[in-house]
Amino acid sequence: MRALRLPSWKSEPELVEVDEPTPGPGQVVVRIGAAGACHSDLHLMHDFDTGSVPWNPPFTLGHENAGWVHALGPGVTGLEVGQPVAIYGPWGCGTCDRCRVGVDPYCENPAGAPVPGGGGGLGLDGGMAEYELVPDARHVLPLPEGLDPLRAAPLTDAGLTPYHAIRRSWHKLPPGSTAVVIGVGGLGHVGVQILKATTAARVIAVDTREDALRLAEGYGADLTLLSGPGTAEEIRRATPGGRGADVVLDFVGVDPTMTLGAAAARTVGDLTVVGIGGGTLAFSFFSVPYEASIQSTYWGSRPELVEVLDLGARGLIEPKITQFGLDEAVTAYRMMREGSLEGRAVVVP
Ligand code: NAD
Ligand code: ZN
Ligand code: ZN
Repeated sequence: MRALRLPSWKSEPELVEVDEPTPGPGQVVVRIGAAGACHSDLHLMHDFDTGSVPWNPPFTLGHENAGWVHALGPGVTGLEVGQPVAIYGPWGCGTCDRCRVGVDPYCENPAGAPVPGGGGGLGLDGGMAEYELVPDARHVLPLPEGLDPLRAAPLTDAGLTPYHAIRRSWHKLPPGSTAVVIGVGGLGHVGVQILKATTAARVIAVDTREDALRLAEGYGADLTLLSGPGTAEEIRRATPGGRGADVVLDFVGVDPTMTLGAAAARTVGDLTVVGIGGGTLAFSFFSVPYEASIQSTYWGSRPELVEVLDLGARGLIEPKITQFGLDEAVTAYRMMREGSLEGRAVVVP
């Protein structure tokens, strides 16, 4: 079968012929219907190096996948060949306290995981191929009625990651509150929709690209702002009494966006950094609003993915998808790098 593989750090992916996987006991092979292209893949190609993460290339890219059950390993029950499924991407040990409640990204026994802190497309072979081997059937979630693999794939990361970040801040987003989304790309454009579908917050979207702001407007953003030196002040002016944003979600994670987030946040607000742009933020008693919480989040939990798939099946969130063939995946990544993509690029093998 054909697979898009990252041969080494600091390299471009290559489309090559590899053996079709076969499932061992407890494992499942999924015929890939769609594999989303995530900006994290660009970080893998260009920014990471030996020691950045506890695994190394080569491996097949694609950590945002959905398709149909192709083959079941011995002992797998509860799934049927041909059934449409989403693949839960972070693969932990399955037995630590975090994994037991479905929070595999924060697995505390990385030595017991198929790959420490990763998954398919992140250290192990992912979904930018005709078939993907899933090492444990618990990561294979049947799609709810009304959702097909094409629309489900982006929900497993571009949907799940912002959903987790927003859900943990729900209590800070009552009517009258303000949420800011910085970076309206693959994750951010779904983030705007999740805020609209699950909270009563007024939503402000910030990006460096007009196209991205128009996309946010289309999904119901109440205010859109081109990011620049005055953006924090503009956000404050748009909140009652200039108090600032209750929750800021930074889907870029570079110095200017983190500084913007801290400057725009309200006292007791949340600044959640999801983007892994390599930025840092100075922290001292007076440099951030009183009692503001600053955190990173990594991906989301398996129960949260069930909730995200439900939102997708009911049409409450609908990622904007541009389709590419496996032989066009490199073009999708180039467009993402140039900033000429809208929403999510999805590779259909
Ligand atoms: P993307 O390329 O689709 O979108 C990024 C968006 O940010 C684009 O619209 C771009 O115009 C905008 N942007 C860039 N610089 C900006 C700036 N200075 N100010 C405002 N907007 C700016 O990327 P994506 O796939 O949505 O991923 C976003 C980030 O999240 C990446 O760093 C990715 O690696 C990371 N990520 C993190 C997790 C996690 O679990 N924490 C999961 C997936 C992706
Ligand atoms: Zn990702
Ligand atoms: Zn674990």
